Amino acid sequence: MNDHSPKPNFQKSFTQQEAIPDEGIRQAVEVLGTGKLHRYNTGEGETSEVALLEAEYANWQGSRYCLAVTSGGQAIQIALRAVGVRPGDKVLANAYTLAPVPGAIHAVGAEPVFVEIDDDWLTDLDDLRAKAESSGAKYLLLSHMRGHICDMDRVVGICDELGIKLIEDCAHTMGAKWRGTRSGNFGAVSCFSTQTYKHMNSGEGGLLTTDDAEIAARATIMSGSYMLYPRHGASPPAEAFEKVRLENPNCSARLDNLRAAILRAQLRLLDVNIQRWNERYQALEAGLADTPNIRVVLRNQAEFYVGSSFQFHLDAGAEQIMDFVARCLARGVEIKWFGAAEPAGFTSRYDSWKYFGELPELPKTLSVLATTCDIRVPLTFSLEDCVLIAQIIGEEAAQI
Ligand SMILES: *Cc1c(COP(=O)(O)O)cnc(C)c1O
Repeated sequence: MNDHSPKPNFQKSFTQQEAIPDEGIRQAVEVLGTGKLHRYNTGEGETSEVALLEAEYANWQGSRYCLAVTSGGQAIQIALRAVGVRPGDKVLANAYTLAPVPGAIHAVGAEPVFVEIDDDWLTDLDDLRAKAESSGAKYLLLSHMRGHICDMDRVVGICDELGIKLIEDCAHTMGAKWRGTRSGNFGAVSCFSTQTYKHMNSGEGGLLTTDDAEIAARATIMSGSYMLYPRHGASPPAEAFEKVRLENPNCSARLDNLRAAILRAQLRLLDVNIQRWNERYQALEAGLADTPNIRVVLRNQAEFYVGSSFQFHLDAGAEQIMDFVARCLARGVEIKWFGAAEPAGFTSRYDSWKYFGELPELPKTLSVLATTCDIRVPLTFSLEDCVLIAQIIGEEAAQI
């Protein structure tokens, strides 16, 4: 090549989300003006922002009950307790996930049984069955990690056959579907995060959904409802609480009205935003499709995903990948590599969760993660931005 013009660099931040919609800001300021930030600080006949959010989210998700809490991680902890996990119980979980997931298993005193993933970042269902049978675990905490949804028909089949309760972690699949059914509608209970980098942004926050009245009642009491549960927006009738109201500890994990107000406005935009994420994802996918050294995984047709992040394999050794990541970063493209031995930023591998003690080796997962690269796709990126990002990644990958 004779072209000595400098290669283009990317300028925007991979962690810059969009502003809160004006309507959300207005509503949040109104809440601030009343001083009534606590979800149970309501007058006669008044419904709190949190209760309204619960009703609206249950309706959008297509679940009978919804409980708003302080974080996705808290939603998972409460969900595990609400389905009956007790200290010492075994919980199956895919080994490729974010640290709050093993953190929640540890917090409830349970023992993780980590399951391998495959090249497409999906839970290996043969390994799931084998580990379920050998461990006798009666719970599966399934993370749809980075938005990849495995064959849910098979997952539900395995769970039914072996008497396993399914808890879905939908932190990356709010709005995604498998064969037309929304993620979060397959198991006993599901958890969502509204932390800044997810599909709705309240800084911190979480949602728990279920169709099971007893699970909903237990979760509500544990979220810290005191005996004020009739003020919830999508909770079961009083009878469901009679049985469980004194059996569950108050874990103080309530959402507040300020954050609920911010979320209600975003929920109205969620479907449009999902389309916007997918356009960006598809621009990256097209831009990287035939790139040397890069393997893009084609998504399963049964899966409707939300493309808020993009993964690819870089077929190279560790040194070369570190060099590639550094060269991309120098051109403004921030890539997370899941193969690193040491956790960095939000990224960690199961073998760094040392608080569990010695964990069995998962050679398949380690080999998949050894080449796994990941980028965030905030909606502040335009389609042209995504084309440029793919170009930079492609140019740097070609140097290997
Ligand atoms: C973010 C995340 C969570 C939990 O979210 P927080 O709201 O930050 O506690 C759980 N699982 C996965 C896969 C996540 O990415």
